[in-house]
Amino acid sequence: MKAVVFQGKERLSVESLPAPRCGPGEALLRVAACGICGGDARSFFQGDKFTGERRIPGHEAAGVIEAVGEGAARWKPGDRVALAADVHCGTCYYCRREMFNLCDSLAILGKHMDGGLADCMLLTKRILDHGIIHPIPEGLPMLHAALSEPLCSVLASHDDLAIAAGETVAVVGSGPMGILHLELLRARGARVIVIARSGNRLARARDDFGAGLTIEASREDPAAAVKAATGGVGADCVIVAAPSAAAVANSLQLVRKRGRIGLFGGLPAAEASVALDINRVHYSELRLVGNFSYHPRYHRQALELLASGAIRADKLITTYAIEETEKALYDIRGGRVLKAVVIPNQGALL
Ligand SMILES: [Zn+2]
Ligand SMILES: [Zn+2]
Repeated sequence: MKAVVFQGKERLSVESLPAPRCGPGEALLRVAACGICGGDARSFFQGDKFTGERRIPGHEAAGVIEAVGEGAARWKPGDRVALAADVHCGTCYYCRREMFNLCDSLAILGKHMDGGLADCMLLTKRILDHGIIHPIPEGLPMLHAALSEPLCSVLASHDDLAIAAGETVAVVGSGPMGILHLELLRARGARVIVIARSGNRLARARDDFGAGLTIEASREDPAAAVKAATGGVGADCVIVAAPSAAAVANSLQLVRKRGRIGLFGGLPAAEASVALDINRVHYSELRLVGNFSYHPRYHRQALELLASGAIRADKLITTYAIEETEKALYDIRGGRVLKAVVIPNQGALL
């Protein structure tokens, strides 16, 4: 099989490796499509201790079960399935309370164990028992099913923020996740304001994805512009989907009293301590909501939502052959694509 192998900072190879054999309790997935996550790109460009040696990255995989070992009765050859990132332990304090994404021993496909950027992926017993795998609804192309994983984290954050139809939501960031927030908010009937530093991706948010208002932060004051667009009140909700300490601090000025602020992404460790105006939080009763990953149920919901056509996957996806994975990573870093999806098996399974 062909596989992408990360070997440290900005080093990868596409190699021919023996296809894994599935033993008892395991299954073999033939991969049709695998998206590249921001986390995969961070591992590649910054290196990390988990993928530094040799690791097949990727967790946004969709494919067909090819073989099933003895005792892995939940699946059968020919089943179309999509994967999400997390593999939890099933026994810790949080797993026992079904807060699986907060598992104390959380493992991520493609980071702590080999992932889906390959022709084939071995679904070990641990992945089958405690990972996130759902059938792909009939009629949903596998290419689109690869979007289900990033979509789950967006769904989970919107649920936590209790976003209602008709609300005004400011999304800070116009990268892939910012646009996915916009796409789902639009489908939910919210009015969306997108704020970003530079203009070219904002034009896309407005023209291709229907943002009601876009604000270029390098040219105008976002707080004043949001106030002006909301009758002086502020947004009902702000979602920070940009890895910027300033964006987090400034979000307090965008939201109305008793508004909610979703902290969707992490910050680089060196900038993670941010000074916040706590009086603004206190006197205006702001709600700061952190979100990391998602409960497994959102993965099923994401697949159903994609199958319904409410999310326009085609507009988000750019495809790459497996040999073009390195190019895809540089395109992601350069902001030239929204969602890069690698097509193993020469696209034969799409
Ligand atoms: Zn992902
Ligand atoms: Zn656990």
